[in-house]
Amino acid sequence: MSKLEQIRSAMAEKGLPALLVSDLTNVGWLTGFTGTAGRVLVTPNEALFITDSRYGIQARSEVLDMPSASFASPTDGDEFLREKALELGVGELGFESGIVTYAGYEKLKDKMADIELVPAPDFFGKLRMVKSAEELAKIEEACAVADTTFTYMLNRIQVGRSEWDINMDLEFFIRRQGLGLAFPPIVVSGVNSARPHGKATQKIVEDGDFITMDFGAEVNNYCSDLTRTVVAGKASERSREVYDQVLKAQLAAIEAMRPGAAARDVDALSRTVLGKKELDKFFGHGLGHGLGRVVHDTGRMNSTSEDVLAPGQVWTVEPGVYIEGFGGVRIEDDLVITEDGNRVLTKSPKELIELGA
Ligand code: ZN
Ligand code: ZN
Repeated sequence: MSKLEQIRSAMAEKGLPALLVSDLTNVGWLTGFTGTAGRVLVTPNEALFITDSRYGIQARSEVLDMPSASFASPTDGDEFLREKALELGVGELGFESGIVTYAGYEKLKDKMADIELVPAPDFFGKLRMVKSAEELAKIEEACAVADTTFTYMLNRIQVGRSEWDINMDLEFFIRRQGLGLAFPPIVVSGVNSARPHGKATQKIVEDGDFITMDFGAEVNNYCSDLTRTVVAGKASERSREVYDQVLKAQLAAIEAMRPGAAARDVDALSRTVLGKKELDKFFGHGLGHGLGRVVHDTGRMNSTSEDVLAPGQVWTVEPGVYIEGFGGVRIEDDLVITEDGNRVLTKSPKELIELGA
């Protein structure tokens, strides 16, 4: 089933005759559009991509499965939308109530006086979790770039260099290949590595420091997300103990990731493993998230998640331990759920690496 057919079937199930897609990630997933302004009107038999004049040419080359229409100044975007909706015979229009702001809704209601607006459920979240073969191939390519980047970076991390310099090397290595960054990388060392989402600073890497790098490439609009922690010089006994337990937690979680497994249970399992060394109290974030056109795609692996693993879903699995004043370790891989388990897409080594020791 094409993505458009999947949405239409979800609409039919809920008895919704027409849908306005406003969320840009949903729009991109549905149409392939990569610009920053665009909406889609979907009815049982028609679909129309609507953008403004800045993206008219781009839309014609990117949006291939449906016609596109663009408006230019002084036309108002919502008035243009109304005109197009009426042409498609829309009388009742669902809008993404979790996305459209209150002010946006008020304006839309005002402009679409003769069309009834109804809050639509989130049709995209579950669908986006399962990747098509084409999407998976793009994610795998992005994962391969992350792996080569990690190998390259092993020669760039040295005692005496700053986190900032290391971060620059990392970004340049990816971008010089004509690729994008999936997100601004995280490069933290020593005590800074206790900040799960810390930013690179001018701090100099010292002997014995943990260095955590969390980064990803964006290839053909799909992302990878890889984290490795290495040690500059020789690891202390405590550093090794913490590292090994995070690795055990990650391997146990990967082992448990198969169709039918509750995301919540996998998250809990990783905490049980960390708890064996009383490290679970230092693991504050969720175990993983969906990965796709955006780095935090739909799907959450945490203690409150209702998600259930199914074939075709792509997940990150990233336990971490962060001890203030000491440092932190995170190990993150990307994997796809298969019919009988999973396949890990990132292949970088994860035995503790002691650089230059
Ligand atoms: Zn990450
Ligand atoms: Zn992640």
